[in-house]
Amino acid sequence: MDGNTLAKQVRIGVRKQTALLPEPPGLAVIQVGENPASMVYVNNKRRDCERCGIVSYAHHLDEDAGQAKLLELIRFLNGEPHIHGILVQLPLPKGYGSDAIIQAISPEKDVDAFHALTVGKLYLNSGPAFEPCTPAGVIALLDRYEIDLRGKHCVVVGRSNIVGKPMGTMLLHRNATVTICHGSTVDLPSFTRQADVLISAVGKSGLITADMVKPGAVVVDVGINRIDDKICGDVDFDEVEKVASYITPVPGGVGPMTRAMLMTNTLKAAQKYFMRGK
Ligand code: NAP
Repeated sequence: MDGNTLAKQVRIGVRKQTALLPEPPGLAVIQVGENPASMVYVNNKRRDCERCGIVSYAHHLDEDAGQAKLLELIRFLNGEPHIHGILVQLPLPKGYGSDAIIQAISPEKDVDAFHALTVGKLYLNSGPAFEPCTPAGVIALLDRYEIDLRGKHCVVVGRSNIVGKPMGTMLLHRNATVTICHGSTVDLPSFTRQADVLISAVGKSGLITADMVKPGAVVVDVGINRIDDKICGDVDFDEVEKVASYITPVPGGVGPMTRAMLMTNTLKAAQKYFMRGK
């Protein structure tokens, strides 16, 4: 499943929509400290914004700026009319409480979809304003390849708040039967072998091997691991490709889709803002 191509199509669609707005959407991206991986992610987001007709506003705080200063910046951005989406690049350096930071973002600008109100609406299936980017990107890929989820056994490996849990919830809302595995799961292969759709979101290269996959299963690899200078997922791609009906590569699968969904959420935030007539 080709995430690069679909992400490009999504971006083209977003660009067409942003051109119809009275002013371009604005996305504020806040980075604290000098985490090299975060810097790459922030740069990628800036480039995506340019491609989509979204104005990105980069805010870079020193690692020792402190929680109070970060909260003050978020409150300021909450009230800024040109900013429609606010994103705090995670992980934050030691000493910052991510939860308090995320809850300080106005739910109307919560384009990462991590705010408790957004999460609650997602779980209640009551029309959340935004869907979390990574699971939304996975669903978009599955839709693109016309993979019907109704009644399918979907096994999600990983239960984080940003990937595993919302992924399971979104699959459930698509009428799949969902199993979520995690670090305390006993005999992981006995679960993965039952999966019609297997989604791995762990961060351990080589975790999913061919003997853990049912022939014909759909395999989605969310994991990102850096081995020397190369990036790979959780799945042994070369071997699993031989048994799966569909599989996502890393890189080029879920990663670009996550970024594309951020653009979609920022567009949505701006559309809602202008519809409210503010
Ligand atoms: P996380 O918060 O570290 O969660 C990892 C999950 O994996 C935890 O629930 C953990 O279980 C579980 N786990 C660890 N070892 C396991 C094992 N041996 N068997 C089964 N489950 C195991 O990570 P995350 O933020 O969800 O991210 C997961 C991976 O996806 C990372 O590689 C990350 O870089 C990548 N990611 C990719 C994208 C993308 O756009 N492609 C976006 C986000 C994240 P416990 O809960 O029991 O500890």
